[in-house]
Amino acid sequence: VAETTKPHVSLLPSPGLGHIIPLFELAKRLVIHHDFHVSFLVITTNEASAAQEQLLRSPTLPSGLDIVELPPVDVFAITTDDTLVLTRICVIVEESLKSLKSVLVELGNPKALVIDLFCTQAFEVCGELSIPVYSFCTASTALLTLSLYLPTLDREVDGEFVDLPEPIKVPGCIPIRTEDLLDQIKNRKIDEYKWYLLHVSRLPLAAGILLNSWEDLEPVGLKAVRENSFFKQIPTPRVHPVGPLIKQEETTTAAASNIECLAWLDKQPPGSVLFVALGSGGTLTAEQLTELAWGLELSQQRFILVVLSPTNSSASATFFNVGSDVNDPKAYLPEGFFERIEERGLVVPSWAPQGLVLKHPSTGAFLSHCGWNSTLESVTYGVPMIAWPLYAEQRINATILAEEVGVAIKPAVGEGKTTVGRKEIERVVKLVIEGEEGKLMRTRALKLQESAAKALDICGSSHDSLARVAKEWKA
Ligand code: UDP
Repeated sequence: VAETTKPHVSLLPSPGLGHIIPLFELAKRLVIHHDFHVSFLVITTNEASAAQEQLLRSPTLPSGLDIVELPPVDVFAITTDDTLVLTRICVIVEESLKSLKSVLVELGNPKALVIDLFCTQAFEVCGELSIPVYSFCTASTALLTLSLYLPTLDREVDGEFVDLPEPIKVPGCIPIRTEDLLDQIKNRKIDEYKWYLLHVSRLPLAAGILLNSWEDLEPVGLKAVRENSFFKQIPTPRVHPVGPLIKQEETTTAAASNIECLAWLDKQPPGSVLFVALGSGGTLTAEQLTELAWGLELSQQRFILVVLSPTNSSASATFFNVGSDVNDPKAYLPEGFFERIEERGLVVPSWAPQGLVLKHPSTGAFLSHCGWNSTLESVTYGVPMIAWPLYAEQRINATILAEEVGVAIKPAVGEGKTTVGRKEIERVVKLVIEGEEGKLMRTRALKLQESAAKALDICGSSHDSLARVAKEWKA
């Protein structure tokens, strides 16, 4: 069958692997399971990202999935070193989408365009072309409901949300502690807040909202967004939970460092290894990294530590050039660390095959920054977590995982301190790998693993949700 006879849709993620990865998985599912032709639009810049290249250039992409690069944007002309991460994403998108109309016309006007939260300039462009736009929320339902509520909060609250005496009560949802709010809305005077508010206030324009979640993971938020009168009166577009869509990694294309990681895991006892990775951009201060290294060492447990060079400037320092940061952990980890941990730990600079590691039977727990993709990967593989949120909406995710879902433990930051000390790290690592509470968390994670697989299976809730949207597009 010639590709041109298949219904054609386009997907458009904003920059950042955390956005690209889940939309790319959606693209593959649409091609493989729902018989679509998908053009995957990639916003490009003159900055390199090795991990992104590796993902999009995989030799095993299914036929019918085309990568279409938008004309490159000169990041250096529109940002400075001080531009914060979300502003950076948004100005790149704004510049890049100036070409969207001509690209869509050239592609022959797809039947629908799926964007993420930060590409809402597409609404106007697609309005002119009569192409329906669907929004794919790459984060939790909790973040979606907060985002839909934000324009109301913005109208009704004077001053900063963080100064409110009570947690934020999104109608029908679990209250959010103000300290857990995302950085982008903690300070209403900054550009990041303005960008965030602008994009989320356009959510009601979507023809539907796809969610990377499923019924059993976030029952409260899903019920609220569908049934609560507040969301009905916005009005909120129909939500379609289609997740968990997580990155499928192939061992065959793995780089040398990946093979080393997996070979090392093969030699460890089942469930004994803590995997430490802080997402594509997560960086720690030198002081915090030193404490973490000491904590791992003191715990006497086995671990894989993925590290980036420490920095005091920002917790999301390498968000845009993931995998391109060549660094030498010997230069910044504590003196004698490598000798003392001997064979018990493996240090991997920059990037590890996270999905393959989490799936490996030797992996017993995951110390994670709780990015939504990492969260979904962890529960999909039934691995309990140590929640170490750093930026964006990760504190909200960490709280849900620890207090609602019960699959994570949050290390405590000592009174008046900004870093987590080595003793506390030692305690939580031991607890999650060999403690009773760790066992309970693992049991819950395994239950979720089962329910995730069921949701995605033929006739499962997420499979059916996507089939329903696919039908709308084919009509
Ligand atoms: N990831 C990986 N190897 C690493 C670090 C991250 O493969 O060493 C992947 C991880 O599996 C996930 C994505 O990068 O799919 C990170 O997305 P997430 O939403 O967790 O966090 P973000 O990077 O957006 O902060």
